[in-house]
Amino acid sequence: MCGIVGYVGSKAAAPLLIAGLKRLEYRGYDSAGVSLLNGGAQVQTRKAKGKIAMLEEAVGGSPVTGTTGIAHTRWATHGPPNECNAHPHHDCTDEIAVVHNGIIENYSTLRKRLIEKGHTFRSETDTEVLAHLIEEAFDGNLEDAVMDALRLVEGTYGIAVLSTRDPGKIVAARKGSPLLIGVGEGEYFVASDVAAILQYTREVIYLDDGEVAVVTTDGYSVCDLKARPVGKGISRIEWDLDQIEKGGYDHFMLKEIFEQPQTIENTMRGRLVVEEGYAKLGGLNITREELQNIDNMIITACGTSWHSGLIGELMIEEYARIRVETEYASEFRYRNPIVDPNTLCVVISQSGETADTLAAMREAKERGARTLGLVNVVGSTIAREDDGGVYLLAGPEIGVASTKAFTSQVVALALLMLTFARRRDMSASRGREIAQAMVKLPEQIQEILEDAPTIEIIAEQFKDATNFLYLGRGYNFPVALEGALKLKEISYIHAEGYPAAEMKHGPIALIDENMPVVFIAPHDSVFEKIVSNIQEVKARGGRSIVITSRDEPALEGLIDFEIRIPETLEMLYPILTVIPLQLLSYYIAAKRGLDVDQPRNLAKSVTVE
Ligand code: GLU
Repeated sequence: MCGIVGYVGSKAAAPLLIAGLKRLEYRGYDSAGVSLLNGGAQVQTRKAKGKIAMLEEAVGGSPVTGTTGIAHTRWATHGPPNECNAHPHHDCTDEIAVVHNGIIENYSTLRKRLIEKGHTFRSETDTEVLAHLIEEAFDGNLEDAVMDALRLVEGTYGIAVLSTRDPGKIVAARKGSPLLIGVGEGEYFVASDVAAILQYTREVIYLDDGEVAVVTTDGYSVCDLKARPVGKGISRIEWDLDQIEKGGYDHFMLKEIFEQPQTIENTMRGRLVVEEGYAKLGGLNITREELQNIDNMIITACGTSWHSGLIGELMIEEYARIRVETEYASEFRYRNPIVDPNTLCVVISQSGETADTLAAMREAKERGARTLGLVNVVGSTIAREDDGGVYLLAGPEIGVASTKAFTSQVVALALLMLTFARRRDMSASRGREIAQAMVKLPEQIQEILEDAPTIEIIAEQFKDATNFLYLGRGYNFPVALEGALKLKEISYIHAEGYPAAEMKHGPIALIDENMPVVFIAPHDSVFEKIVSNIQEVKARGGRSIVITSRDEPALEGLIDFEIRIPETLEMLYPILTVIPLQLLSYYIAAKRGLDVDQPRNLAKSVTVE
């Protein structure tokens, strides 16, 4: 689930590998390690619990040399995060080292069998069985042994393996966990994420499930698990290195919040045809006739992406008049959903690798639905397996708590809605009205960002709260969920999001002077209703923070803190109302002295279910 980097070339591998791991730090991890070949009989491995700085210390104290190596950041699934369970893992004789992202589901049967054969295990991980299986199968050639081992394995993996018995080589393989090869000059890389190698090369080959790659200083080859060669094309990465650096901000999250005027503009650019009130989405791969035949949609996603899906559902039902159901991917994949050839399944994932979302998409496809991916990472698995898609074009999102990907997702869903609605029964003038409002959004976000100091002052007031309630109605109910999630993720304060009127059916019992309540109350069709809910909180001594769009006499004397946002159309408010909520959670977490970009227990791209 976390990070893999590998290097074969003529340079000292250790500094390159550690620099690569640092680029993957944003994904969240609990320990790290590195293994190198130096011509000796044993693999040299150093590992450390905690941050990569600890690994650097271990390597500094006991240096490792060599020009072939693999490295890993671990996000523990089997066995606690400690030095022993950190990767790489070895075989019995320390001649083979393996790094692994994912889960070996049948590891306990395999482990038992291997112990019976005399193998000695040193860690509690599922991963270690791979090292011993490869040891068992080794007959002079590492890739053959890896393929033999993988044929016995159930579960998911992205792996990189090296051995002193077949030196100058890395064997990499993937099933359900991303992996790519970086092509340099006389040097090659293996990585789970391009960020790890972008400073060395822009040319990459994405591996697909079931593929095995062999990388040496002379080149690379890719085959399937039956050793049949597979032809692969080279892709060029268009990001720049400064996009994955902090650029003067204290945290990636803050940088990404402030990037939003630009990122949503990127999502719209070349797609929104304002005069015709229409969106041109090149990658949908869907004919006009097929589009007309779609009579129901399923939007499936996890976490923040699920929240954007809820907003998409409201937009598409209201304007395109297509029945939409938004569902957690983890639930969808394990029930018996009604899907038919007239179902369009939209899957949303920042990374395009989210395990549950990918599995839900495959399930929908299997049942005959057409699939459409809304993903940010170009070339990711969902992007490669969907029938059509819309790239978010928000640039790399490094902060674990998603911000700019969320607003780009909502914009992409609005574009999708326009495409569908205009081909059904939306008039050009209505479409134009929406498009014109969308064009104004970047500037309006900028306006809200300029008000960040006000939000910072509010954060100071509430940084020690232990609970928060977020309430919104209509299009802003999903924003309440998203605001609460953001706060939980990075500040570790318990927070709940509710449709505002639901407060009376339970949560109102919690209201007292210690319970801050955030109302998302722009001036829309449900504004009057939400004012009543604010009154109910006030009557019980609760303190309110209200995000609203106008100087509202109705709110006078009623609220404790106000955050003002510009006016837009009802369906577009979430793109504005979420910004102060992102800033509020950011400032609260920063003031509590927490690790905003790498919150505890969380990983950026959840590639295990
Ligand atoms: N399942 C493996 C472990 O717990 C790999 C975890 C990861 O993906 O980082 O060690």
